Formats: sequence, structure tokens, C-alpha cells
Amino acid sequence: MAEVGFIGLGNMGGPMARNLVSAGKAVKGFDMVPEALQKAAANGIETVSSAAEAASDVAVVISMLPAGAHVREVYQGSGQVIATAARGSLLIDCSTIDVASARAVNAAAEEAGHEMLDAPVSGGVAGAEAGSLTFMAGGSDSAFGRAKPYLDIMGGKVVHAGGPGNGQAAKVCNNMILGISMIGVAEAFNLGEALGLDPQKLFEISSTASGSCWAMMNHHPLPGLVASSAANRDYKPGFAAGMMHKDLKLAQEAAAQSGAATPLGAEAAQLYTLFVNAGHAGLDYSAIIKMISGK
Ligand code: NAD
Repeated sequence: MAEVGFIGLGNMGGPMARNLVSAGKAVKGFDMVPEALQKAAANGIETVSSAAEAASDVAVVISMLPAGAHVREVYQGSGQVIATAARGSLLIDCSTIDVASARAVNAAAEEAGHEMLDAPVSGGVAGAEAGSLTFMAGGSDSAFGRAKPYLDIMGGKVVHAGGPGNGQAAKVCNNMILGISMIGVAEAFNLGEALGLDPQKLFEISSTASGSCWAMMNHHPLPGLVASSAANRDYKPGFAAGMMHKDLKLAQEAAAQSGAATPLGAEAAQLYTLFVNAGHAGLDYSAIIKMISGK
């Protein structure tokens, strides 16, 4: 009998579920797309025909879905996960969604006698494949303690960020820093070039000076400076601009709801909206340097 029910077997969920199987867990899974189910079956996952079926008679339900609307639909709407799961089940949603939806679904799950954790990830498809994701978890100590052995299989780092919704809060705050700092690096290297500075020289100086940051050191938007940059692969993601756009919009929703001022976050969201609306959602987020430099 399956121990884990996995819902959403796409680019991220597919390899995450496969890693659970590789670790010896019996997993049954559901996705609305037949190709995702076929791939999952080839990876040793028992495929079922509804979210409710995936959630019944398992100890743990894990979901990896596109957005808050899908999560609400699966858990509280026609997916019926909260209604179907055995009382006391552990529910873990790893999707990146808005903080308000995460807290609402968590409250409904607890109300029905389950324990629930929001556990969004960073690390992308490569991290999902390698089982090296970073999980940012929000929920009770008890839910976190029960979830950790499963998250440890799929991830390299698992952090309990606090109560319900705090995993999503950590995710949007972190990615807002990343989006803003990528734009800052792109602007500075564009300015340097306009002033006649060799990008290699500016990198040699900034990378060990006060302007250094994670975006510069790992995802530098110009080719030839950092081995891991998507710029070296013609901006093939990596972390797609469409995903960064989604996360910056979630940060803006959270800022509006909480009353926090995020003027640079708002500006970054607008710049990524322009970039995505120009048809570049599928490029790496570092490609925003092309728009900033007018190239
Ligand atoms: P994806 O579109 O590849 O996968 C989502 C899957 O959910 C799809 O296969 C879809 O058919 C399925 N789905 C949608 N509604 C469903 C429903 N009602 N019932 C069952 N299945 C349903 O997306 P992804 O890249 O795997 O991303 C999943 C989540 O992970 C998103 O929230 C995303 O923001 C987050 N994330 C993605 C990355 C990345 O690099 N891809 C990185 C970090 C976080």
C-alpha cells in the first residue's frame, strides 16, 4: 500500500516523487496531464485517476502545483483532498503560492483534523532532479517534525520558517531580493560598459568588493564571467523570467496585504512584467540585462 500520495507530477513534482521512490517509499500519484502520469509510471509511481484517490489511505500527501488557485481547488474544491484524507494525515504543499491561500488551506486542513505544512522550494528543476532542493517550511512543530524525513529525501536543506504560511513568506522575500539584485547587477554592468569599463575588470573589482551579491556571483547576466551563468548558454534557464515574474507578483500581493513598503520590489515586478510581456518568459531571468541595455 502506498505511503505517499503525490499530486502534481510536472517539471518539479515528477523528479521529487521519483526521488521518494528511489529512497524506498511506495508512492501513488496524480496529475491532470496524461504524459506526466506516463512518465511517473515509468519511474515506479503507481498512477491513480484523481487527487482524492491519491490522498486516500496514505500517511502523507505531497502536492507540487502551479499556483494558489490550483492548491485551493485540489485541497478544498473538486480535488477533495482535505475531505478524503484519513483524519490526522500529514499534508505538505510544496507549490509556490500566495501567503493568504497557504494560510487559508492550512486552517481548513487543521479544522478537519489534519496537520499541514507549506514547504515551497528553491533550487529549480536541477535541484528537484538531484534531490538537493532547499525547503522553506511553515506550520506547527509537530507537522514539521513529521514532514522532515520526507523533505530530507527530496532536499539538501530543510528550514522551519515558523507557523503556517511562513514558508511562502520566506520564499517571496528571498526571491524579491534575488530579482532586485539581478536588476541592480544588470544596471551596474550596463553603466560600466557605457563608461568604457571592461566587464571583466568591473567583475574582478565588484566580485570581491561591497557590490558583490549572490546574483552576481552565481547567475551573472553577462556571458564569460561566471561558469554557472545562463548567459553562457544563450540565457536558456536556469530560473525562467516567467517564474521570477510570478514570484515578484506574489511578493507584491503579500506587501499589499501586510502593508509593508516594497518600492524596489514593485519596480522589479514592473520591469519583469515588461520583459515577460515582450515574449521572454522562457528566457533565464538574468536575460533582463538585454532589456535594460536596450540590446
Ligand atoms: P509544472 O507546470 O511543470 O507542473 C505542475 C503540474 O501540476 C502540471 O503537470 C499540471 O498538470 C499539474 N496540475 C495542475 N492542476 C492540477 C490538478 N488540479 N490536479 C493535479 N495536477 C494538476 O510546474 P513546475 O515547474 O513543476 O512548478 C510547480 C511549482 O513549483 C510552482 O508553484 C512553481 O512556482 C514552483 N517552483 C518551480 C521551480 C522551477 O524551476 N520550475 C522552482 C521553484 C519553485
